This record gives sequence, C-alpha cells and structure tokens, in this order.
Amino acid sequence: MAPSKEYALLCLENPLLDIQAQGNDELLAKYGLKPNDAILAEEKHVGIYEDLLNNYSAKLIAGGGAQNTARGAQYLLAPNSVVFLGGVGDDKYAAILHDAVKQAGLRVEYRVDKKEKTGRCGVVITGHDRSMCTDLGAANHYDLDHLKSPEVWKLVEGATHYFVGGYHLTVCPPAIMALAEEAAKNDKAFVFSLSAPFIPQFFKDPLDATAPYWDYVIGNETEAISYAESHGLETKDIKEIAKHLAALPKANSKRERVAIITQGTLPTVVASKGEVKEYPVHAIDKSKINDTTGAGDAFAAGFTAGLVAGVPLAQCVDQGQWLAKLSIQELGPSFPFPKQAY
Ligand code: ADP
Ligand code: MG
Ligand code: MG
Repeated sequence: MAPSKEYALLCLENPLLDIQAQGNDELLAKYGLKPNDAILAEEKHVGIYEDLLNNYSAKLIAGGGAQNTARGAQYLLAPNSVVFLGGVGDDKYAAILHDAVKQAGLRVEYRVDKKEKTGRCGVVITGHDRSMCTDLGAANHYDLDHLKSPEVWKLVEGATHYFVGGYHLTVCPPAIMALAEEAAKNDKAFVFSLSAPFIPQFFKDPLDATAPYWDYVIGNETEAISYAESHGLETKDIKEIAKHLAALPKANSKRERVAIITQGTLPTVVASKGEVKEYPVHAIDKSKINDTTGAGDAFAAGFTAGLVAGVPLAQCVDQGQWLAKLSIQELGPSFPFPKQAY
C-alpha cells in the first residue's frame, strides 16, 4: 500500500497474550471448560495459562480484538503506520507481547501496571472447537492519564485515524470519549467496533455516548442483532439495522457515517447515506480453513488500512474480506509470512 503518514492509525483496546494450544477432553475437564465457549477466568481457571505454556506446545499471539486489528493493518501499511494503546503488567507475559508486536512491526505504547498481571486469553483447541478463557488483568486498568500523558497524546495528535474496540467500553469510556471528541474536533476518522453481543446489551449507555462520534461502525451479524434488541428496533433484518446505525445523530457533520456489518460467509452489508450495498466475501475452500477466530478483527484491519491509504470504500471492504480470508487459513488471528500483497 502507499506509504502513509507516520503512525497515521492509532488503536485502543485491551492487549491480551493469546496462549493457544491443542488440548484434549481431560484438559477441558480439569478447568471445567466447555469445548466451545468464551468466558472470563475465575479463581479455578487461573492455573490454565501456565499449564498451557508449560505442558502443551502453545502458540503465542499478541491478541485482543483491536490489537489483532492493529497488527493486521500494519501488515498492509508502510512501516511505522500503526500504534496501539492499552494496559499490561510488568511481567514475562508483557515481555512476550513486546516480542510479538515487534515481529509484526507494530508500535505499542502500553500503560504498565506494577500490581496487575498482563491480560491473557487461554485457547484450548479440541478438533474444530475452541474454548477461550480470558483474564483481562492489567488491561482492565487502562486510564485517561496514560492517554493524556504528553508522549502518548502527541501520538494521538499525530494520527489521522482512530480505531477503538468496543471491549474497551468495559474498561475506560473516558479514554474512548477523549479520542472520539478529538476526532470530531479535527475532522479525523473515528472507527469503532461493536466487538461482541454483550457490549450493546450490557454497556448500552457508554456505547450510546460514543455513537455520535462513529464515522465507521463495524460489527458482525450477532452484534447488530444484539444492538437492535437492546435499542428496541423492531427488526432483525441486518440491512435495516445497518441503515439505522448509519443514520444515528452525528457529531462531525463533515463525514457521512458508514455502518459495516459482516456475516461470516454471507455478503458484507454496508449502509451509508440511506443506501445499503452488499459485498460478497472472498470464498475459500473449506479444507483450507484453519481457524475462523478473529476473522472480524482481520476484516476490520484490512478495511481500516484501506481508509488510511485513502482508497474508495468498496475497495476498503474488499481488502477487509481479503485479509480475513488470509487470516482464517492461519491458527488464531494471524497473518501469513512471507507477506502477501493485496
Ligand atoms: P466475526 O469474526 O466478528 O464473527 P465474521 O464471522 O462476520 O466476523 O467474519 C468477518 C469476515 O471474515 C467476513 O465478512 C468474511 O469476509 C471473512 N470470513 C469469515 N468466515 C469466512 C469463511 N468461512 N470464508 C471466507 N471468508 C470468511
Ligand atoms: Mg462470525
Ligand atoms: Mg468480531
């Protein structure tokens, strides 16, 4: 892609060290996990991370939705295009994260918490199933002071595009709002991901506070339906929901909002200016699919990289689908090396 301004894209959310390993039924039983699930870790789960690291050949990934997206966007853009913000601890997990993002060419500015462990997501793979167990740890302690610290705020001011993952609404809405307002004030692009169905369901008020600032809102079909339900829209029609999202009141009137809803193998729905378009996905033979976890993060990465590069909207969508297709052939939200060009 064409070179972009240094650190044109600034992303914020929860950095997690993904510890992924091929497991078995005994491992699931040991921690009381279901084969296909995504839960927050309780006391009885905390041993799983070291267990996976020490006793299984675990693949380590710099995870967390928006950090995946940040890595993916950097994969496509010129060197030094993307910076990611979030909270980590002062421990070996953070050291592993630093190594992983370095390999991906992603710059990170982490808030370091001396008391909390770095967030981890254990992934136990059994056959086609994935059981995920997340301990947010230090990611849960991100704060506005970090964002507003002179070195970090300079990066905020230097960026032209912001990407915020909706999971961060459970952590630090003031930081999200500070970025949102900065974007509107300076006519920068604010891209927001709905992240998960529980966000519109249980974090409706902080979500709604960010809505006027969305220039681009990205979600999948289950997130769109959850939004519709929690907001009393009497429809489950993805196109209608996308239209509704696009038409919500807007702070920065210089930009028309675009709502983008992906739906797995079904066409991606894009609503803007009262119109809805559909874009077929990049079909791929089932036998080539390794792991669809993080497909949406990869889509958001390709899409947002397109925005940063200034390509037309249709190409942003297509590039998102293309990058998602590459990612689902890898284990976890990863991208193939040697690099492939769009
Ligand atoms: P999420 O991971 O958030 O649930 P989706 O499942 O909607 O997101 O996937 C996002 C995008 O990834 C899709 O729009 C599509 O481009 C791509 N994708 C996902 N699954 C497949 C698949 N089986 N074949 C091809 N592309 C896929
Ligand atoms: Mg999906
Ligand atoms: Mg998703």
